[in-house]
This record gives sequence, C-alpha cells and structure tokens, in this order.
Amino acid sequence: MKIGREDFEAFINGEKSITPYIETDLLAGSYSVFGVKTASNPNYLIKAIYEMYELNLNKKLAVKAVRNLFRSVGLGSVGLNNLLKKLGIDLKPSEFLMLVFKLQHQQGWGAPFELLEATDKRIILRTKQTFESQVMKDWNMQVCGIHQGWIEGVLMAVTGMNWFCLERTCHAKGDEFCEFVADQAESSWKFKAEAIVKGESAITEFIEHKPVEGTIKLIDDPVVIMPRFVFTSMMNSLKKTMGEMPAGGVNYRAYMDMGKENVEHYRKMGITKPHILADMAFTFYSQMGWFRIISMEWNEAKKEKTITLEHTVESEAFGNTGKNVCYCTAGLLAGIVEGSFGIKVQGREIRCRSKGDEHCVFAITNKPE
Ligand SMILES: [Zn+2]
Ligand SMILES: [Zn+2]
Repeated sequence: MKIGREDFEAFINGEKSITPYIETDLLAGSYSVFGVKTASNPNYLIKAIYEMYELNLNKKLAVKAVRNLFRSVGLGSVGLNNLLKKLGIDLKPSEFLMLVFKLQHQQGWGAPFELLEATDKRIILRTKQTFESQVMKDWNMQVCGIHQGWIEGVLMAVTGMNWFCLERTCHAKGDEFCEFVADQAESSWKFKAEAIVKGESAITEFIEHKPVEGTIKLIDDPVVIMPRFVFTSMMNSLKKTMGEMPAGGVNYRAYMDMGKENVEHYRKMGITKPHILADMAFTFYSQMGWFRIISMEWNEAKKEKTITLEHTVESEAFGNTGKNVCYCTAGLLAGIVEGSFGIKVQGREIRCRSKGDEHCVFAITNKPE
C-alpha cells in the first residue's frame, strides 16, 4: 500500500482512522498498519519485561530500566520523521509526538494523549491510563516506564537533543491521570551520577559494554571487571614478601589513596557537597559489587562513624579464616570519608565476617593531628 502526504494529513486532522490502512495476510502471518509491519499489544510480554528487571532490581529501578529500553524504541521514530519531511509535512516536536502516539494508540499500544503544555524546552502530556498502567496496576506506583522512555526517544529523534521525562501522576497509583513532563536537559555525568545516588537509576543503565572491542565504560569512565580472587591473590603475595601485618597495612594505605582519588574525580565532575560525595562513592562501590551497606551510624559524642557491611569483597574471597581480613575495604571507606570531608581519619575493622561475626563492621574516627 502506498502511503502519501494526504493520508497523513487526513489522519492528523481526524478525518480518517488507521482502519483503511490495516493489511492482514493470515497465510503469511503478517499484519501491517500504515505500511509498517506490526503486532497487537501482548500484555504478557509487558509483564515479563517488568518482572525480568524486577528480578535484579527493586520495582522503582525496574520501571527506570524499562524506560531505558523503550527509549531505543522511541528513537526508531526517526524513520517516520524523515518520511514526513520527504512528503513536505513539517511538524513541531510536540505535534510529531502526538502523531506517533495517535498512530500507536489506534494499534492498541500508545496512549491517547492530551497535550497540556508545549515549549521548546518542556512538553507536558496526559492520558487517563496507559496499557502498562493497566497491566502493572498491582504494583500500585508510578509504572509507566514504557511511555517515559518512548516519549524521551521520540523527542530525541526529532530534536537531536536530550530529553528527560518524568511521570508526575499515574493511574496505576490510583491517580486520575498518567501525566508526563518531558524536559530538554543536558544528560551530563553529574546528572546521571546524582540519579544513581538518589535511587532513580542503577549503574547498569549507564554501563556501556563492548565485549568484542574489549572495553567497558561506566558513565563514560573506563572500568574493568576483576575476578574477586584478586584480593586473596594480592594479599597472599604481599604476605610472602613482607609478612601479614605489614601486608594489611600496605593494602589499607593503597585503598585509602584510591578512595580519596575516586572522590577527587567526582569533585572534578562538579559534585561539591561533602555528604553527596561520600554517598556517591558508597553507592557506586556497593552497586559495583564490593559490599552491601546495612547501616551507617554517626555517634556525635564519640565523633565516630560506624559502617556495617554485608558480603565485603574480601570476606567473601577469603571465607572463614578466624581473623579480620578487610584491610582494603577499611582503607577504601576511610579514604572516601577523608576525601569527601577534607579531614584526617582512621578506619578500623572491629568485626569481620571472616572471623565469624555476622557482618563486617568498620569504625571511622578522626585522626589526631
Ligand atoms: Zn502511569
Ligand atoms: Zn571483614
């Protein structure tokens, strides 16, 4: 079927629906709308996508991961935009967005949006409900990651700029509308790192892994994957040359410097508040698999910070040894606190999983000058 300018215009004006443009070939098992092969909306697929992400994330982060996935779907609309331009139809970004969702809605996918506000920098849309808000209603929260990502992708495709879409209210949470606010925003290192600290993104969203080329980047910074036994191997090698206590001290010192340098890097990227610098480092190392933070307590009278961690990288690598083993982690934590707050501290491991304690517990205290 040949689709021309008059077809799009009739559709945008509401004179025609997509019905005359649906072609089915039951023998070939194909179904196309407006000349593009498509399929109906399979609810079980939506549920499966959300649940796949939820398996390794919490629900809120799973919604964000879905958003990330559907941003790529939205980016695909660049083809439609080029076709329209070729036909001499020049739409504003908000008009194009509305057209995409109208086309999709009549196919059982996108929402029938109402445009509330449209400027160069901000577009606000709402709808009674989206299909994912119906399918994922039992999560009872803002669930419309598909539409958030889709909106971002479509706007990126037509403007060539970065857009960031939030869902203000959601039908799945019991609100009257699903309302989306899309802002044109710089997607800087700082922006992404802060989203991770706030729990709005997980580092997985920003890992760019090119296994065939042998590179991995985490928000534009090169990183490597290391096997955990590096820690036992390094410790044993140092022990052989200098004895156990000095080896622990060397590891402590080396990781303290690393923690400080890491914080310095965040500072260069524009993060300035001490507690955000510290939270950022703790969150990143935790999400990179070094440990899980159980609690952080501050004792004002003793001027002491107590950090309780689960599965530190060393206690997992060494297993049960009857001794404290987390010298690297102790140094890392102390370095993060020193670097963030600009003070001199001492980090000691006071309980350790490898010694038989439930968790590894670290005390960070001010070091007298
Ligand atoms: Zn919603
Ligand atoms: Zn330990």
